[in-house]
Amino acid sequence: MNDVIIIGGGPAGSTLGSYLSKAGFKNTIFEATNHPRSHVGESMVMSSVRVFEEIGFLPVMEREGFIRKYGASWHPMTAKGEAAICFNEFPQAGITQDYTYHVDRSKLDLLMLKHAESLGTKVYQGVTVTRVLFDDNDYACGVRIRIADQEIDVPARLVVDASGRQTLLGRQLKVKKNDPIFDQFAVHAWFENVAKGNSPSANFIHVYFLPVQRGWAWQIPITEEITSMGIVAEREVFRQAHLEPADYFFKFINSNPDLAAAMQNARRINDFKLEGDYSYKMDTFAGNGFVMIGDAARFVDPIFSSGVSVALYSAKYSFERIQYAFETGDFSEAALKPYEHKLRAGTEIWYEFIRLYYKLLPLFTYFISSKQHRLEVLRLLQGEVFDRSEVPVLDEMRKYIRTVEASDNHVFKGQLSDIPID
Ligand SMILES: Cc1cc2nc3c(=O)[nH]c(=O)nc-3n(C[C@H](O)[C@H](O)[C@H](O)COP(=O)(O)OP(=O)(O)OC[C@H]3O[C@@H](n4cnc5c(N)ncnc54)[C@H](O)[C@@H]3O)c2cc1C
Repeated sequence: MNDVIIIGGGPAGSTLGSYLSKAGFKNTIFEATNHPRSHVGESMVMSSVRVFEEIGFLPVMEREGFIRKYGASWHPMTAKGEAAICFNEFPQAGITQDYTYHVDRSKLDLLMLKHAESLGTKVYQGVTVTRVLFDDNDYACGVRIRIADQEIDVPARLVVDASGRQTLLGRQLKVKKNDPIFDQFAVHAWFENVAKGNSPSANFIHVYFLPVQRGWAWQIPITEEITSMGIVAEREVFRQAHLEPADYFFKFINSNPDLAAAMQNARRINDFKLEGDYSYKMDTFAGNGFVMIGDAARFVDPIFSSGVSVALYSAKYSFERIQYAFETGDFSEAALKPYEHKLRAGTEIWYEFIRLYYKLLPLFTYFISSKQHRLEVLRLLQGEVFDRSEVPVLDEMRKYIRTVEASDNHVFKGQLSDIPID
């Protein structure tokens, strides 16, 4: 019998498979698609490097020549110049390089799945899990899979849901809660001939502010020739525009001077893709005999490229508790819950940061330009959100917002959004 069955072979599932196999656990990944398959989420934060190193995957990243990401840059709507950060300003414990990566996810996800397999994980692609099975004591005890037209039950000691935004187990248990504030929608595609600007920021992620509430665009280099471009705004903005995706996309491209300039000679090389249904959390990430990891547990708005890092760290931290469960023979919710507390605390820091960002856009630019706050903001942007009891810079941001709210004539007053911050 399997020790662990993992539903889904994205970054979360493959990372957990790698940890488990390295530690000698018998584990299987069932992946519904056949890799390589395309996926959104192409820019990483620095903290991902630490997990790649731990599972022995960093040499693969280097061998495959993924684009090195040394920093990030934000472009206001007024073309008054970008605000940028470089990762080497704040070295991170356990990371010996000053860059992370931008990736073609079809390639990354295939390589990560192969890596887990090379360490001992059994991988079945083209196999959809239709439900998680529970025994009479209400412990997860396996999964039901569908191959061709056949359904088969496969037993396991512990089941991990890494099914991404499909959120298989969350939906089965009815514990999925959509975010009360964010209902974002993205339209994106790959282009050639996007002007990248000069070094050192040429291969940064570029984020452009757009003239609608919670609107922004991404520019992510995938290879030296190909750039991923995406427009993000509230779903309602897309709905009310009544435009075809291409017209909607270019309407916003032309709304920011720096963005329009970057796209002046661009040529699209694949179809537009639409992404909705994100920003949610499960009421529980861990129960009797199961855990949820990556997007299957929690999704925060991708403005700061946090998703893959959260997927990797959720795999790392769930592995620690799974190992403990096998050592003690205790697979109960109580035994697995510390994983949930850790992941929830980290993702809540991301969430708070994102919420304050959207509350008052110029605040972010002000904070990263400030000598006093820059390093602490950078630390967050690098993905250092786990194992932190307090994050004073978020309190400072909240305090600043309060001051703007209370003042009649603050220069930022008109830019406050309607997001609640308590
Ligand atoms: C618009 C947008 C932009 C984003 N930008 C970024 C970014 O720049 N940087 C970043 O880090 N993150 C970004 N993200 C988030 C990122 O895409 C995810 O956080 C990340 O892919 C999560 O990895 P995962 O392994 O949890 O899930 P996934 O990568 O989605 O993998 C889940 C896997 O499970 C499989 N699966 C699903 N259901 C089943 C089933 N029933 N049976 C078997 N297999 C199943 C799927 O086929 C899939 O391969 C973005 C997301 C969105 C929506």
